[in-house]
This record gives sequence, structure tokens and C-alpha cells, in this order.
Amino acid sequence: MSLDTATLERLRGQDAAHYLHPFTDSRELAAIGARVITHAEGIYVFDGEGRKILDGMSGLWCVNLGYGRREIADAVHRQMLELPYYNSFFQTTHPRAVELATRLATLAPAAGETRFDHVFFSSSGSESNDTNIRLVRRYWDLMGQPQRKTLISRWNGYHGSTIGGASLSGMSGMHSQGDLPIPGVAHIMQPFAFEHAHPGESRDDFGLRAARALEEKILELGPDTVAAFIAEPVQGAGGVIIPPDSYWPEIQRIVDKYGILLISDEVICAFGRLGHWFAYEKFGYRPDLVTFAKGVTSGYVPLGGVMVGSRVAKVLVEQGGEFNHGYTYSGHPVACQAALTTLDIMQAEGLVERVRSDTGPWLAQGFAALADHPLVGLAESCGMVAGLQLVRDRASNTLFDSALGVGMLCRGHCFNNGVIMRAVGDRMIIAPPLVMTRSDIDELLRLIRHALDLTL
Ligand code: PLP
Repeated sequence: MSLDTATLERLRGQDAAHYLHPFTDSRELAAIGARVITHAEGIYVFDGEGRKILDGMSGLWCVNLGYGRREIADAVHRQMLELPYYNSFFQTTHPRAVELATRLATLAPAAGETRFDHVFFSSSGSESNDTNIRLVRRYWDLMGQPQRKTLISRWNGYHGSTIGGASLSGMSGMHSQGDLPIPGVAHIMQPFAFEHAHPGESRDDFGLRAARALEEKILELGPDTVAAFIAEPVQGAGGVIIPPDSYWPEIQRIVDKYGILLISDEVICAFGRLGHWFAYEKFGYRPDLVTFAKGVTSGYVPLGGVMVGSRVAKVLVEQGGEFNHGYTYSGHPVACQAALTTLDIMQAEGLVERVRSDTGPWLAQGFAALADHPLVGLAESCGMVAGLQLVRDRASNTLFDSALGVGMLCRGHCFNNGVIMRAVGDRMIIAPPLVMTRSDIDELLRLIRHALDLTL
């Protein structure tokens, strides 16, 4: 449905006049005019100028089932008529929240001794990580160790945009606006071998060194002051950074040694994106808390939450009394219904298994082949997320001067030529819908290569 020029201009004018966009330079946007996305179907979005664009980012890492799923729209419609809202404060509950909590508890595999029988609901990843801060501090209070307050996370990790989420995130651009992080949050290096490995250091040796930064930080802060370590299984917003194989086992050894809680932020990685329902299963570590959002409803309705492992749940439920925390929309019935239908579709279509054994490996092979392009220094994927590093010189892996904005240039070529890729500096990343077939992936890769050629 392309829009006539007058309508497009009106929308852009009103957009610039009234709409403060997230993570956007408003003056810059007003000067160029926002791209207006009018509708979407399957794996494609359409803009006001009539372009059909393959959505290589699943919206914002969330529309895992693709657009236009009538089953979700119909189920949500029915739920809105049956019970559009009720809360679960003050001794009430409702069927959809109970069904979803039970379903998630069944889906989340045990991690060693830890079972995930309990779920706390929110409406986003950020809120869920704020909940995590509350949960871990409450846990340690109840354990008689109230001095354990500090959460450790990683530079260039992303955990949300609320004060708590932005503090846990390791993005200096966020910290510099508003005096963040809050007290009681510390950061360590990220496990990004391309950027941080020493010359000659093997990937696994680097992974061990990056993990041991956690032990160093714990010792620096004092082990009995540390409450938890939070990390993404694969960093998403930081540029799709896949840790070396040695990384997670060493992290597990360290959190075990010091008895601190481990939080797996799976807002991007859960629900099949890495070929497993939950990514801790893929990497074999044992979290105590698991953050989820995005893919749980395929982005159709906002929903997030925390899977609370038995170590924390036991103390909270049996000794905790009232936990003074919750959101008006915790367990919102419409959002829970959207999630239930999303999970039904994922199971009926065998999507998690398909990513694990078919489309994930297919993408891995095709994406790695982009490394022969003169602009590409590294191209790797994990399940259905992938990132490539643009470089000025492949032989020496020399980066471009960041002021040149080569990533943004490439992003523009992608969009104008029919594919959405995100640029994180000069890292180009994708998180395609999980419903993509092999031939969709071939088309995606063809479009990416074309955009790279235009960027040269
Ligand atoms: N955690 C991770 C790993 C994320 O990728 C994101 C968002 O991209 C968040 C938390 C924040 O989620 P939300 O934007 O729903 O608040």
C-alpha cells in the first residue's frame, strides 16, 4: 500500500513535530524524514514508497513467526472480548497467566539441580531485568547476606533501557546520559575475540581470559559483596558477539566457586533463535534466573518475564513473605494469550528443531561464505543470528575510521535494495524470522552481498 506524496509528507511532518523516537537523533531524523512502514506480510515489510523489504531483523529481534499470523490475531481478538484485562495482585489470578506460567515451566529444561517451575511476568526485557535486580537483592536479604548487592555485567552487553536495565547494560553512550550506572553495578570485558584477543592468542585461550575477568572483578569487589552475574548467551545489540567455546564453562566454574547467582538474559536468544527453547541449554550452563521477552509472543503483543530457578524460588516462596514488586501489566491476559498461540505455532511447525538442524546450519554455511567479500573481515552466525565485521583491509583486519560511517552506508544500501540489516558501528547484523526456509535464506544472503558490493 504505497502512500501518495502528500500523505507521506504529512506523516513525516507530524512525526518530526510530535514523535520522540527511541534511540534517535531527532534533528537528524527530521532532516531526512522517517521511513514509513505501512504493512507487513510473512518475512517482508512494505514502506510508503511501495518498497518490499525482506526483514532480516525480525522487527527488533522479535517477529520470529513472521508477520500476518492470523492465528495470533484471532486468539488475541477472542481474548480481548473474553477478558481484556485483569491483574494478579491481591489474591486473584486468571486462566491465561496460569496456563502460560505452566507452559513455560514445562518448556524450560532443568539445569543440573535447578528447575524452572516459577515465572514472574512483565511487559518487556528492560522491566524483566529490573525485576532481576529486585529478585537477587531480595534473595540475598532473605539469605541473611544483605551486603551482597552488586550485579556484574559486561561492557557492550545490552540489558535494557530503564535505569536498571541501562545500568546493567555496558553501553558507554547510555551511561554518559544520566549518571549511570546506578551504585551496585560493575562491568567486565566482553568475550569478543576479534576485538580483544592478543596477537597469537587462541580463541579458547581468549575465552578463558575473558571469563576470568569475572573472577578478578569478584576479588576486587570482595566476594561477599557480589550478588549476581548477568550476561546474554550471545550478545545481540552489541553486534552479535558469539563467545568462544571455553567461555561459558569457565563462567560457570567461577559463579559456582563464589556462590553468586547467574542470570541468563535470553531476551533475544530464547524461544528457538539459537535452535533451543532456551540458550543456556545450548551452552550447557546453569542459570538461576532467565530473562525473556520478544520472541515469546513473536512481538505481536508486549510480554516479558523471568524464569525463576528453584534456588531463588524456594527462598522467595517459602521464606519471602510479600515480594513488594510487580507491574500493572504483569501477566496481562491478552499478552499471555498471544504467547500461548505463539508457542502452539512454534511447536506445531517444529521451528526450534528446524533452526537447530536445518535453517541454522544452512545460514551458518551461507553467511560464513560472505567472508570472501573484500569488505568482510569476519562473518559468523549462531542459529538464526549472524554478524559480519566490515574492514578496510582484510589481510590485516584493519577497521575503517568510525567517522566514515561505513556501517550506516551499508545499512542504507540494504534498505534501498530490499533487505533490513542493522549496523552496530561497522558490524552488520541480522536476526531473521525463524520461519525462513532455505530459499528465503539464500535470497537474504544474495541481497546482503549486493548491498556489500554497493558499499565497496
Ligand atoms: N535484554 C536483551 C538481551 C535485549 O536484547 C533487550 C532488547 O533488545 C532487552 C533486554 C530490553 O528489552 P526491551 O527493549 O523489551 O525492554
